[in-house]
Amino acid sequence: MKIGILALQGAFIEHKTMLERLGCGSFEIRKKEDVKAMDGLILPGGESTVMTKLLHELALYEPLSCMIRNGLPVFGTCAGLILLAKDVIGGKTCFGCMNITARRNAYGRQLGSFRTKGYMAGIGTIPMVFIRGPYIEHAGDRAEVLARVEGHIVAARQDNMLVVSFHPELMPDERLHSFFLDMAAKHRAEKTARAI
Ligand code: GLN
Repeated sequence: MKIGILALQGAFIEHKTMLERLGCGSFEIRKKEDVKAMDGLILPGGESTVMTKLLHELALYEPLSCMIRNGLPVFGTCAGLILLAKDVIGGKTCFGCMNITARRNAYGRQLGSFRTKGYMAGIGTIPMVFIRGPYIEHAGDRAEVLARVEGHIVAARQDNMLVVSFHPELMPDERLHSFFLDMAAKHRAEKTARAI
């Protein structure tokens, strides 16, 4: 399997390292020419406004948006969650393909970064590191809530899209990335079955 990682800015190296630990190959996407067949896509944490601007300037927006809409498994962490959200409070919509409303910088400037542990459906209790992250104000049609912290939604899934408000790539726990790789493996198997 090969996972593409958007590498314009932010915490992309940490995702790459995590995938290496899980024995999964990956490649970085920085320009249009880097977009090729992949089994999954990771949209990392960083600054969603900067990433949105660069996605358009580098002509990456169209091909990636098309792949996501066609069912490519995608894992958005923190700013990556914002990139996928249909509605963004305090920011602009980027891909807009997931039925969630994301509140940017939801925890405020001072208390924006913290660690906790939380229960995530399908995985169990995992460590969660928040760095000026968003939370999901509202999960709409088909968006399944997977975790809440202090009442706020911090993880959700809709079909091929998995999003979390926190940074699993910064913690030693590999379960969330394994979960995403399972989504990617299933998609790959379905694609192969259709081709036969
Ligand atoms: N505050 C950032 C944004 O709005 C997200 C922070 C992060 O990805 N750690 O894009």
